[in-house]
Amino acid sequence: MTAACLMSTYQPLALSFTRGLGTRLWDQQGREYLDAVAGVAVTNVGHSHPRLVAAISEQAGLLLHTSNLYSIDWQQRLAQRLAQLSGLDRAFFNNSGAEANETALKLARLHGWKKGIEQPLVVVMENAFHGRTLGTMAASDGPSVRLGFQRLPGDFIKVGFGDMQALEAITAQFGTRIAAVLLEPIQGESGVLVTPAGYLKALRDHCTRHGWLMMLDEIQTGIGRTGAWFAFQHEGILPDVMTLAKGLGNGVPIGACLARAAVAELFTPGSHGSTFGGNPLACRVGCTVLEIIEQQGLLQNAAHQGEHLLARLRMELDGHPHVRAIRGKGLMVGIELASPYRHLAQRAAQEHGLLINVTRGKIIRLLPPLTLERKEVEMIVRAITRLLD
Ligand SMILES: *Cc1c(COP(=O)(O)O)cnc(C)c1O
Repeated sequence: MTAACLMSTYQPLALSFTRGLGTRLWDQQGREYLDAVAGVAVTNVGHSHPRLVAAISEQAGLLLHTSNLYSIDWQQRLAQRLAQLSGLDRAFFNNSGAEANETALKLARLHGWKKGIEQPLVVVMENAFHGRTLGTMAASDGPSVRLGFQRLPGDFIKVGFGDMQALEAITAQFGTRIAAVLLEPIQGESGVLVTPAGYLKALRDHCTRHGWLMMLDEIQTGIGRTGAWFAFQHEGILPDVMTLAKGLGNGVPIGACLARAAVAELFTPGSHGSTFGGNPLACRVGCTVLEIIEQQGLLQNAAHQGEHLLARLRMELDGHPHVRAIRGKGLMVGIELASPYRHLAQRAAQEHGLLINVTRGKIIRLLPPLTLERKEVEMIVRAITRLLD
């Protein structure tokens, strides 16, 4: 096969998989790989989880789609479960992360409109990534995402990630026009950047004081990735709005925007919608994923193996001439290299049977399934140490 009929938006490695089970994938030649990418933080409960396979097969034979013209039992169940787990009140279901963020941005617009702000602004962060639609591109940072797509929808103001002083400065300058802040609790695409201790709490207080919505993009950090259901739970805060996708469907497309009741009520019948969003298959998969995480103790496992992975990487690589920093939370780990090295992901796969992602050219990002075992932590550490030597 050739890729001649595909638009060239990706540069895939010369690797293709035919089968997966748990933390492992097999290529067309039958070679086994340890998957420390998990489809970019998606297959959190592992590939081909038997309970998920059973749920998908059964639901496919029962009902795939009826549209939101009718009430959907699995959609209500998933909303209720996510509300219980997060402390937020209501959910709207989309088919992807970008769409979930669009839902959040529409809520921010309505919030501003209700407050009588003529052109409401949303504060976003340097190095942010929120998706590839026009609106979420505008909320994202960096020329690689935005180049050639000007003019993008406006009304975003950018501040330094984790910088309270910068936030105070733009508050003084634009204060009454700001309706919301949108940010990732840990920035994923830009290389696993963790906010300074206390920042999210201070930001929460700031939003409350000024009547802004605090909107967290937990598309990558949510669903157990950092060792809690949602990353904000490490900080003892509650956002007004949160978006989810990736791990919620374990590979079946789904996105969700959750909000406090008072914010959710900004939407009225007709103000938002989606044909596929919240269909019985995707929502049943979401419910099953949450059940698996709970019953297999995967939050605890992600926290535990994640700590272990960080500690072992630091033990082997601290002071290494190619390594500048090692950071992360749970099973979301970044190893920043001193300079870009070409073909790192390809070499890791070919020479060590390990799948890794490299972001911004020089940050190895590890996002293995939350089912990762201790001996697999060791396999990752050994492979990366050899790779960098
Ligand atoms: C992946 C990602 C998105 C975009 O999700 P899509 O499903 O690709 O639209 C948005 N925000 C963050 C933080 C992400 O990691």
